[in-house]
Amino acid sequence: MGADHLRCPGAPVIRLSLAAHDELRRHAEESWPRESCGVLLGRLAGEARTVAEALRCRNVDPAPERRYQLDPRELLAAVKRARRRGEEILGFYHSHPDGPARPSAADLFEAEWPGCAYLVTAVAGGRAGATRAFVLLCEGGAGKRFAEEPVEAAPDPTAPAQAGG
Ligand SMILES: [Zn+2]
Repeated sequence: MGADHLRCPGAPVIRLSLAAHDELRRHAEESWPRESCGVLLGRLAGEARTVAEALRCRNVDPAPERRYQLDPRELLAAVKRARRRGEEILGFYHSHPDGPARPSAADLFEAEWPGCAYLVTAVAGGRAGATRAFVLLCEGGAGKRFAEEPVEAAPDPTAPAQAGG
């Protein structure tokens, strides 16, 4: 994981506003024992993907305890919201109730946005644990893979980060 040749060249760091960081973790806790999910909106800024907002979406998967599927209408609304604000969809988040903070095989299979960051938060007994980020890479012939990237949370995400996690 994280070898140089796997890194997205433009933006190796996922930088979250504290508000977005807290929001996606709160959502993970409130959704337990089901998976939460949502969209990350923000801008590419030099070395970082700078996430301004974590937008909650409904998990419409028929088995929400172990899978997630964003409500397609809410995803479309998020795309429009980003466009209106001059931002981009930088990634997605979801939670793993009583599971690890890394993508499952199904998560990789269903990931459809190359270059986007997929954040996974482990939730043990309703308490958010680690949040980790994985960028979806599509390599010709080799198929899709996730490369882990560091996550930083900062009061002002355009400034250097002050807290990890
Ligand atoms: Zn998952």
